[in-house]
Amino acid sequence: MFRVRIDESFEDEADAKTLFDFASKMRAKASNINEGKDNEEIGFVERHECKHNEGFSCPPEIFVKVEVERKIRVIK
Ligand SMILES: [Zn+2]
Repeated sequence: MFRVRIDESFEDEADAKTLFDFASKMRAKASNINEGKDNEEIGFVERHECKHNEGFSCPPEIFVKVEVERKIRVIK
């Protein structure tokens, strides 16, 4: 098994969407680790409007998160 973790910030929302959309497509080939067990790790891709550069935390309601289980949770 091989693992990829990406956490990048972009000034341009379109650039963030490009990486998010590519990673979201790749989730179709990705696996979860120890699924259904106490130590399961569900793969995910998430995108949000980040406020850390303004000194604020990021409100959870603006998250877009796609899990490897193909559940798509959009809270906006
Ligand atoms: Zn943030």
